[in-house]
Amino acid sequence: KAKRIGFVGLGNMGLPMATNLFNGFKNEADFIIYDINQTTTSNFVKDHSAGNKDKVKVAKTPLEVAQEASVIVTMLPASPHVESVYFGKDGLLEALGPDHLVMDASTIDQSMATRVAKVLHGKGAKAIDAPVSGGTGGAQAGTLTFMVGSNTVADFELAKRYLDKMGKNIVHCGTNGNGQVAKICNNMLLGISMIATSETMNLGVRMGMDPKLLAGILNTSSGRCWSSEVYNPCPGVQENSAATRGYTGGFGMPLMAKDMRLAVNAAVETKSTVLLGALAQQLYNQMAANKDFEQLDFSAAYKWLSENAK
Ligand code: NAD
Repeated sequence: KAKRIGFVGLGNMGLPMATNLFNGFKNEADFIIYDINQTTTSNFVKDHSAGNKDKVKVAKTPLEVAQEASVIVTMLPASPHVESVYFGKDGLLEALGPDHLVMDASTIDQSMATRVAKVLHGKGAKAIDAPVSGGTGGAQAGTLTFMVGSNTVADFELAKRYLDKMGKNIVHCGTNGNGQVAKICNNMLLGISMIATSETMNLGVRMGMDPKLLAGILNTSSGRCWSSEVYNPCPGVQENSAATRGYTGGFGMPLMAKDMRLAVNAAVETKSTVLLGALAQQLYNQMAANKDFEQLDFSAAYKWLSENAK
């Protein structure tokens, strides 16, 4: 039986990533996908199996993915989901072996990523951690940055062939788990800079400045950052930002709260000082626990400040 390419977790990021991977390999391989959300899997099948019913199969369990696919990408919310998909009942692990290449693109803690790698390597499988940066826009455009942790260059090179279809910068960050180190550090900075940008935009607007004009100045001045330039949290400043579409889609508040927690936990473990990281974590925790904000993109920090602190 021909081996398929498997994809587990087709959410805000996974869906466009799986689409690009599919488009890049559809002439070489069939696909098998799995998500607990059956609407997303059946939509994917509808969109991608025109004229060939066997082209994309929906698995009933992660185990079935491992049975039918030799190359597998997972893109799940957090460590507990990764643990259950890999190690749970009917999980991937039960069928993994030397023929498998497994790439986990989820953002999780370094220790879980190292544990996954150790167990999978123990079964003879090739395993890398490959968390991403670039947001849903980058996932759609296929321009993500992949931060890869891989004990061997050979596994990295093998994985790169697949990651290339979903990303533009594929960087080997060191041994297994080090992809997560790069990602956690990046997202701590992002989480802080998004709050800083939100505070700045809110202050300027309250002082009477036109937000588009203010953003334009910031973005040609020394305050410029990704949050001000590419993903401005103030609605209307950019046509395609999450802010302008009511903070829908994008990078969910609980996920940013999770990433800040990963950073603060890592700081505790390594005795590092992260004053601003810890403060930002508190704010994301509050927003993620608020029913009006938990479903929104993390740039709704601007909405929080503009509505809650009048
Ligand atoms: P999401 O919540 O939109 O998608 C997660 C998907 O996983 C959903 O479709 C969900 O149904 C599925 N899922 C959950 N538990 C499952 C299980 N046990 N088995 C199978 N499927 C399961 O999340 P997302 O925004 O796509 O993010 C995924 C990961 O990527 C997270 O770790 C996040 O931190 C990271 N990330 C997100 C962004 C972003 O902008 N959204 C950017 C970079 C990295």
